[in-house]
Amino acid sequence: MKKEYLKYTAVYLLFAFEAEAVKVDVDMSFYGPERCGLRGIQTLRFHEMEEDLKQSPIKLDDDMPSIELSAMEFQPESKFVLKRSGYRDQPLSEANNKSVKERISALATTHVTARFFQRVIPTLSHYGLISPEMNFNKLSLTITPHNDQCFEKNASYTRTGRIGGQGVLNFCSGEFKTVRLFDVVAHETGHGLFDALNPEYYTTFTDGSLSKVASLNHPYRAVHESFGDWAAIYTSCAIAIVQEQESQVGDYLNGTEFCMAPGWEGPGTCLRTPTSYSLARGCEAHNNSILLTELMVEAMRGTYREVVDSPWFYSSSLQKPKMALQYFQRLLISAIAKPPSFTSLGGFSKVLQSTQDDMSGTNIASVDDFSKVSINVREYVQDRFYEIAQDNLNRLLDGELGEGMDRCAK
Ligand SMILES: [Zn+2]
Repeated sequence: MKKEYLKYTAVYLLFAFEAEAVKVDVDMSFYGPERCGLRGIQTLRFHEMEEDLKQSPIKLDDDMPSIELSAMEFQPESKFVLKRSGYRDQPLSEANNKSVKERISALATTHVTARFFQRVIPTLSHYGLISPEMNFNKLSLTITPHNDQCFEKNASYTRTGRIGGQGVLNFCSGEFKTVRLFDVVAHETGHGLFDALNPEYYTTFTDGSLSKVASLNHPYRAVHESFGDWAAIYTSCAIAIVQEQESQVGDYLNGTEFCMAPGWEGPGTCLRTPTSYSLARGCEAHNNSILLTELMVEAMRGTYREVVDSPWFYSSSLQKPKMALQYFQRLLISAIAKPPSFTSLGGFSKVLQSTQDDMSGTNIASVDDFSKVSINVREYVQDRFYEIAQDNLNRLLDGELGEGMDRCAK
């Protein structure tokens, strides 16, 4: 722990702090996802009140929030320096330098993921798709980027506060650092966001009459796991759009597979893939969750493929991936905001269907979830888009996948 503190000290003494709280542009860097044309380090600009950033609900396990904002940006060759009064500046060792970058990366990835989900809340609330109390306001996440006390290479979200969304994101360290994988950090952040939005899912699978073993197999937990993976997929694509790589998102939607945490066990491997659900051991939540994630990704792809060449759809081809993503993000968030009362993933698919009906009854006409984008889509186009999305999802729900979702019932 002491060592960690020193690494951190190196960063926050780098720059003089401006006393005045003003609107600032903050560049945050992070180790990016490996999809939608993104690889390596990504840097995104945030427009923030400096004060808000310092009081952010997302912080590292020491006093990282007091880090100078300008130190959030790094490049592969960035070197951090330890500054102490009365001492000469001391360059950090290679290992400590890496460690500082990983800490910044974890903080930034969590911020970025939360941001893309927070954005949709006012719209969904406005159209009555979620109740006004449903939001991420109670979110309070502490990140432990380098935990070397773990028994296995893994990561977790644990609720530590009294209410949902107040918890710890834990990333195991050692030879294999889970904090380096974008998908893993975004996934755990997704758990925290889900818990803040609807705490009922978490308490039901950890408390009450459920035994610990049963809880691991509960469909609520599978939905939680799927939401985490969805958070990683969605955020990757959203970043690509903000980085003006919409066509890459289109390519991703034209693909055939999803791969969570590429390189998990070495080159060419994935933590989870759509085909691995058939190999699922029992009904363990992570394996079981793949059914739902595949359902969402396939429905999104089917929808995109149908709209991409439609002559009636006059929006530019660059807007279509955005709309496909946005529709399914809104659908999933609205669905999990409802009080859960299902006993299998098949039951959750019915929640998705009723949520689709709710969405059809509204008129969410503008695409407003991406910072650099402000386009209006005419109502009939939006309606048609919903129809296609619903057809795709219904087709999947009625088919083999829908049946698969009824196994593992509790
Ligand atoms: Zn998880």
